[in-house]
Amino acid sequence: MSHEQLIEEAMKAMKNAYAPYSNYHVGACLLCRDGRTFYGANIENASYGATNCGERSAVFAAYSYGYRKDDIEALAIVSDGEKLGTPCGICRQVLSELLNPDTPIILSNGRDSMVRTIAQLLPESFGADDLVQ
Ligand SMILES: [Zn+2]
Repeated sequence: MSHEQLIEEAMKAMKNAYAPYSNYHVGACLLCRDGRTFYGANIENASYGATNCGERSAVFAAYSYGYRKDDIEALAIVSDGEKLGTPCGICRQVLSELLNPDTPIILSNGRDSMVRTIAQLLPESFGADDLVQ
């Protein structure tokens, strides 16, 4: 699946976003090496801290089905903002543990797009290795 196709799939997922508070819609499509795809959309809550982001939902769905970082080929994340959206801090932390450092993360808002890795988005991250004493 090309990056453009992954963006299209993420756009479909974005239609399922539940964002009555921010009105900022996010969709994600995670592609596994065996061709399977997992989707996510941002799901907000009146208790804002209970909100879940689209990219975390997609990665958690893949992990829930037993897939792990080595099984993941790429992750597309799309949003409908004027500015090209990038993952929030919490998502960067999650992605730094659940994706390989060089997994392509494709970002698009339908006009602009770019490809980054989590190593680029969250350099010098805190992780499991830091817990070793
Ligand atoms: Zn996030």
